Amino acid sequence: MRNGNGLKAAGPDLAAALPEGVLRPIEPRHLEEPRGRYHGQAGLLAAPRDVEEAAAIVRVCAAARVGIVPLGGGTGLVAGQVMPDGPAPLLLSLERMTRIRETLPMENVLLAEAGATLQAVRDAAAGAGRLFPLSLASQGSATIGGNLSTNAGGVNALRYGTARALCLGIEAVLPDGAILRDLKRLRKDNTGYDIRDLLIGAEGTLGIITAASLRLVQPPAGVGVALMVVPDPAAALALLARAQARFGEGVTAFELISGQGLRFLTETMPDLRQPFAAPPDWMVLIELGLPAGLDPDAALEALFVTGVDAGLVMDGLIARSGQQAADFWRLREEIPEGNRRVGAISSHDIALPLSEVPRFILDAGAMVAAMGDMRINCFGHLGDGNLHYNVFPAVGRHRAEYDALRPRVQEAVHEMVVARGGSFSAEHGVGRLKVRDLERWADPARLAAMRAIKAALDPLGIMNPGAVLA
Ligand SMILES: Cc1cc2nc3c(=O)[nH]c(=O)nc-3n(C[C@H](O)[C@H](O)[C@H](O)COP(=O)(O)OP(=O)(O)OC[C@H]3O[C@@H](n4cnc5c(N)ncnc54)[C@H](O)[C@@H]3O)c2cc1C
Repeated sequence: MRNGNGLKAAGPDLAAALPEGVLRPIEPRHLEEPRGRYHGQAGLLAAPRDVEEAAAIVRVCAAARVGIVPLGGGTGLVAGQVMPDGPAPLLLSLERMTRIRETLPMENVLLAEAGATLQAVRDAAAGAGRLFPLSLASQGSATIGGNLSTNAGGVNALRYGTARALCLGIEAVLPDGAILRDLKRLRKDNTGYDIRDLLIGAEGTLGIITAASLRLVQPPAGVGVALMVVPDPAAALALLARAQARFGEGVTAFELISGQGLRFLTETMPDLRQPFAAPPDWMVLIELGLPAGLDPDAALEALFVTGVDAGLVMDGLIARSGQQAADFWRLREEIPEGNRRVGAISSHDIALPLSEVPRFILDAGAMVAAMGDMRINCFGHLGDGNLHYNVFPAVGRHRAEYDALRPRVQEAVHEMVVARGGSFSAEHGVGRLKVRDLERWADPARLAAMRAIKAALDPLGIMNPGAVLA
């Protein structure tokens, strides 16, 4: 069974050649993705116990010309982890490689296997008195291997950077089955091309990450969380600039929340406590993490008072307990679930230069309104210029009614983003969902270099076929 690019389906012959004991039953969860738009298929599922087994699996697949789809927690939002078409691949799941190999608080380093969940890594770091600052709503299921492969961002990227900035070294299996043993714990290592950085963000198309050495930080001595109602996104950005001028890197999160998002939560999760009697059109969730000697609540109060004086803030709440802070965060983190329940026509994970954000929100809103009767929930990591710009059916209508409009909405939004120096994929990656966007919008020299790298490292095209590059 061959297809156009010469790959074959994973079947009984391959199973017989694999290392003993690596095969596991394929369950529905292995073939699903969170938004339910793609349904994967697979001939076999192999779950190695260590890097040698992973390498042996890759060598067998390379010899048989069978495609491999790496699988972490399955929370990816661009369908990189599910392959709906083509010869059935082998799913290589990291579900048995979940060990925290070592925690070195003196070095601020933790070594984890790729299948460890982000939550497990954060817990292990906390157990050693440190913080692993990557934080996503999906962290209970998402794995470190998946986080690195998608270069995940999340709510604290503003202060600590994306997953790439938190990785010092990796262990990986390359497409020919060679093991890359680069689990360095160094902050400086200028020794030629950075293969680690090539594999980070490659979404499984250049190899399989099996372990990583991760950068930990000292947790801030005091953390404060507030919700502040702002008149518009321009005021939110001015407030961010003020907060950063006062507290520098103490601003650890700055999230934009729209009234539409809050109304969706009221509709779909009526039990969730809403902080304000009526949902404001715009508000921000601000988190400060400050060193010893500075009181984060007093700092938030000062920001609130000066923000009100400057006309940037209209109302606000400062969390008075850990529980209240968690409630504020829950509100923010349930927004994607509220969106999922309402059912988006199209979802955009975009990034813009910060100064372009307010104008974009106005112009894109007018453009979408001119295209049809739709609702917009625009929210996200404002401090990073990363908006989740999601378009929904009008009240009483269903997303299926907009099938014909969807591609036009997607294209128009991305076109506007790219024209303003932005990105059509800020933190979720390209996967299978945005392959055509990459072809259309990427700088031609960059795309050619990406293809050359893929051809050099994976000449057989077995690693995650069809993801990122067509
Ligand atoms: C509710 C919710 C909230 C989210 N919030 C955020 C957010 O704030 N920021 C953000 O960036 N993302 C977010 N995501 C998206 C998702 O959680 C991230 O992309 C995450 O990093 C994926 O990790 P995973 O282990 O689930 O990877 P998977 O979904 O299993 O895989 C993702 C991609 O990585 C590849 N891959 C997985 N493991 C490996 C490996 N070990 N080696 C090589 N390739 C591998 C897969 O083939 C696939 O292409 C969210 C998702 C959900 C459902």
